[in-house]
Amino acid sequence: MPIVEKSLVEVDRKEHLEVEGIDVSGDWNTFLRSRVQTDLDVRVVDWVKGQPQGETISRCWQCGTCTAGCCMHTDYGLTDFNPRYFIYLAQVGYEEELRRYASTIWRCVSCNKCVERCPKGVKVEEVVHTIGTYLTLTGAAAESPADRFDRAYTENLLARGVLDEAALFRTYERLEGRKTPAKKLLSMGLSLLRTGRLHTGPLAHRTRGWRRMRTVLEAQLAEDERRRKGALAPATPAAGGNR
Ligand code: SF4
Ligand code: SF4
Repeated sequence: MPIVEKSLVEVDRKEHLEVEGIDVSGDWNTFLRSRVQTDLDVRVVDWVKGQPQGETISRCWQCGTCTAGCCMHTDYGLTDFNPRYFIYLAQVGYEEELRRYASTIWRCVSCNKCVERCPKGVKVEEVVHTIGTYLTLTGAAAESPADRFDRAYTENLLARGVLDEAALFRTYERLEGRKTPAKKLLSMGLSLLRTGRLHTGPLAHRTRGWRRMRTVLEAQLAEDERRRKGALAPATPAAGGNR
C-alpha cells in the first residue's frame, strides 16, 4: 500500500559518502516516523453508550445496510448523510471529523427504515440522534429545531399530562423566535378543529392525578440531564498517556 502521508516518512540522506573509494551518497534509510494518534477520543462512544438511546451503538459491525436504505442518503441524494459513517466516527472517536457533520446529522427524518433493516439490531435512528445531541452539547452545532421541538413538547406535556396542540405550537414558535401571521393561524386552527384534531383550552383533556406523576417525571428528567452533562466533563489525561 503506498504511503500517502509524506510527513510521516523520514529519509536519512547522505550527501557525500564514500565507502572504500566508492561513492555511495544518496538516500540510505527511509523510516516511518512513529505515530501516536491523539485525535481519537473514546469519550464520544462512551458517552453515546451511556445514554438510554445510544447503548446499541456497540453492536454495529459497519455493514452499511442502514445507509443503503436511508431515504435521506438515497431518495433525497444527501450523500453526506451517512448513518453508518456517523456511527463509525463515533466508535473510533474521530471527533474532529464527526464535527463536520454536526448540522447534517439532524437531517434524519426518523423514518426508521434503518432500524428495520439493521441485521445487528442497532437502533440506528436513536443512535444517530444521540450522536447529534453529543455534538450539540459539546458546542459543535447550535441547538437544532428538532431539539427545540423536543423542549416545547416536554414542557407542554409536563403541564397537564396530555398535549394541548395550540399551546405546543405557541411554545415552539417562542423557542424558534418566529410568529405565524394571525390569518394563517386561524385557518390552520379551523381546519384542525373541523377534523377533530385540535384539543385546546376547554377542549383539551386532562390527566387525573397528574401532579404526582409530574413530580416523578421531573425528577427523572433532571437525573437524565445530570447524566448527559456530567459525562461530558473533560477527562483527566492519564499520567504518561498518549500526547
Ligand atoms: S445496518 Fe446496523 S450493523 Fe450495519 S452499518 Fe448500519 S447500524 Fe451498523
Ligand atoms: S431514520 Fe434517519 S437515518 Fe434512519 S433511514 Fe430514516 S432518515 Fe435515514
